[in-house]
Amino acid sequence: MKRTLPVQKNDYIDVIFEDLTHDGAGVAKVDGYPIFVPNGLPGEKAKVKVIKVNKGYGFGRLEELYEKSPYRIEIPREDLPKYGGCQLEHISYEGQLKYKENQVRQVLTRIGKLEDVVVHPILGMDNPWHYRNKAQVPVGEKDGKLIAGFFKPRSHEIVDTDESLIQIPEINEAVQVVKEICGKLGIPAYNEETHKGVLRHIMARYGKQTGELMVVIVTRTGEIPFAEKIVEEIVERLPKVKSIVHNVNSKRTNVILGDKTKVLWGSEVIYDYIGDVRFAISALSFYQVNPVQTKVLYDKALEYAALTGSESVIDAYCGIGTISLFLAQKARKVFGVEIVPEAIEDARKNAELNGFTNAEFEAGEAEAVIPKWYEEGNKADVLVVDPPRKGCDEALLRTIIDMKPKKVVYVSCNPATLARDLRILEDGGYKTVEVQPVDMFPHTTHCEAVARIVLNEEVEK
Ligand code: SAH
Repeated sequence: MKRTLPVQKNDYIDVIFEDLTHDGAGVAKVDGYPIFVPNGLPGEKAKVKVIKVNKGYGFGRLEELYEKSPYRIEIPREDLPKYGGCQLEHISYEGQLKYKENQVRQVLTRIGKLEDVVVHPILGMDNPWHYRNKAQVPVGEKDGKLIAGFFKPRSHEIVDTDESLIQIPEINEAVQVVKEICGKLGIPAYNEETHKGVLRHIMARYGKQTGELMVVIVTRTGEIPFAEKIVEEIVERLPKVKSIVHNVNSKRTNVILGDKTKVLWGSEVIYDYIGDVRFAISALSFYQVNPVQTKVLYDKALEYAALTGSESVIDAYCGIGTISLFLAQKARKVFGVEIVPEAIEDARKNAELNGFTNAEFEAGEAEAVIPKWYEEGNKADVLVVDPPRKGCDEALLRTIIDMKPKKVVYVSCNPATLARDLRILEDGGYKTVEVQPVDMFPHTTHCEAVARIVLNEEVEK
């Protein structure tokens, strides 16, 4: 027998939102049946139009707000709704922090079944604006004019914009200047549909501690028309520029950067510092986008590692060695592993740049390299993991359980997979002592957290 759902498509219903989903939509329930409504906030009473019904849940559109949440604010740019992935821009920063902290608490209980873990109040930013040190802005044409901005949510239509409130002003300025120069010289924008045209993306990176700016011009074509003129004007108008790079991406793809880069002017890299550690950043390198909060996050990871100088540490998913080198300041030896070989080359260069001789790096899958190290007798006292959103591979967690490092520090960009992995470690003889959420990406739904995990026998000591 077909069960009837409590609502039908196109119904208008009055609801009170109870919760937010991990992507920031309001959740209302009708006889237990959840309906997800973008823009709804917990506690708000509203009229909703049901637009889609599935077996277990439905979707709705907010039609009218009867009662507003105290956390609801006017969005900063009415003309640019949810631009640049700011899904939480209708929530005050205080409300956003509360939402992210709750999310961490909820998943640790619901998915991790961890009842007695201490979750600290989230560490937010004093000034949660203009924090991003990198922009990758798609370029298009409208009415014969070059435009650059961001894609409308769920579409490939580019909205021209003069600024982003979450990017560092130097980055915004660089994008505008390059757009103007290329527009003036008549450089045609790339067209996704026809796969013709030249200019695909304007990218800018900025070392917040050093004031060094990099501009990357991404084109479909191997050459940029008027390249010399473009360079000359950029150098004149952007005095902080240290590096101008041309990246060629001739493929039909959503991936922004191609493999080929050529320095047009200046240096191949710019530098930045996190704490006292100096990093070289090239056009293609991965580098954390919120330098202020990266320091907060790494300091917490270092505190949880509680190094005395005698430890051997493994840093899994090490990227360009940022956490590894932070740890190398306090450890006897650090071993970093990362799947992208170019990142490992950067990690080695960064170790050299800072004069660290106690850090070694190997390219490969963490779940393959660490078991191999373990077999070879390389055991760690402390293991740090910082996996991508899907969390740690189970084979890696099994190796940790066998290897029994005294401490594990888990840096996570996805609370749900963190909770899942913590449960596996708990069942394997570890205890999660405390978790510190850190807001790395204000106004977006992304939530970062660091967990301190200790071998049970060590807890009891
Ligand atoms: N710790 C670094 C990078 C974290 S991002 C920092 O703070 O900057 C996660 C990293 O894991 C990425 O660099 C990604 O390339 C890498 N990665 C993804 N899957 C992996 C795997 N199976 N083994 C090792 N590294 C992996």
